[in-house]
Amino acid sequence: MIIVMRADATEEQIQAVESRLRSLDLAANISRGREITVIGAIGDDRKIQSEYLETLPGVERVIRVLKPYKIVAREWHHEDSVVPVGDVQIGGRTVQVIAGPCSVETPEQMAAAAAAVHAAGCRLMRGGAFKPRTSPYTFQGLGEKGLEYLMHAAKLQGLPVVTELMDVRQLEMFLRYGVDVIQIGTRNMQNFDLLKEVGRVDRPVILKRGMSATVSEWLMSAEYIAAGGNHNIIFCERGVRSFETAYRNMLDVTAVPVLKRETHLPVIIDPSHAGGKAWMVPALARAAVAAGADGLLVEMHPCPNEAWCDADQALTPQELNVLMDELRGIARVLGRDV
Ligand code: PEP
Ligand code: MN
Repeated sequence: MIIVMRADATEEQIQAVESRLRSLDLAANISRGREITVIGAIGDDRKIQSEYLETLPGVERVIRVLKPYKIVAREWHHEDSVVPVGDVQIGGRTVQVIAGPCSVETPEQMAAAAAAVHAAGCRLMRGGAFKPRTSPYTFQGLGEKGLEYLMHAAKLQGLPVVTELMDVRQLEMFLRYGVDVIQIGTRNMQNFDLLKEVGRVDRPVILKRGMSATVSEWLMSAEYIAAGGNHNIIFCERGVRSFETAYRNMLDVTAVPVLKRETHLPVIIDPSHAGGKAWMVPALARAAVAAGADGLLVEMHPCPNEAWCDADQALTPQELNVLMDELRGIARVLGRDV
């Protein structure tokens, strides 16, 4: 960090900053200009709160130079990371489309969904057993039974599964059922205790962006997971809150190149929760792949108008097939495949 002193700072005040830095195990590089003095702190200052220096007399402001995240930062790991999920890779040349219903409903619905996901050429399946609903009176997910239906249907089609974890108390159950990828939803992006727990397990994690989170907060949340030892993290942009009411959330496609620059980890997009309407999903999905996303998380239901949750935004199996064809064309132009 760089400490900028006030123009009227006294020599004693400059010395006081230097000794505070020394007490924090940092060296000080003092540069005396004609009008102001700036002090460069040398060493790893990530753990030091800037207020600790900002409140000293004579200090004008403190500027951080080091990024507060480290393991997830591209600065420290230049190559793109690939997250393996069984035989499937997320973050490589292939754009992975993860499809399936918003929520697990019945064994029949899951069997039909898994067959459709497989037939469309997708290599991973989604389905929520524990649902974060705005109203406590709406369907909350089947819970453990849902995991059972999901795992069974996906296994028959040879598809690894992605499903949302809302509570640390369910983590052991997720591992016991062999959930392949743990999804942390938008509402839990800053549930730090949950992040710490998934950081301790060996399962890949899809970290959705909080609906009002900045890119920097999102990266810090990923750092929480990584700090526990689990580096298999996939970022998922799913739209952010905005002033616009014509769609559910505003898809922030800009986040793709920004994240790709900031982190070596894969970035995927959920066009379903962004648009909130099935007819918007193909356009947003095409934009995501064109922008360089490593994958998509798409809601598809064998019979959308019978879905128990997010019926408006679910593609039909046929619509998923058409979308996959379109995405193959876009990916080819970019030297990738789907
Ligand atoms: C979901 O994927 O079904 C979901 C609830 O997503 P989000 O956390 O992005 O709202
Ligand atoms: Mn949903």
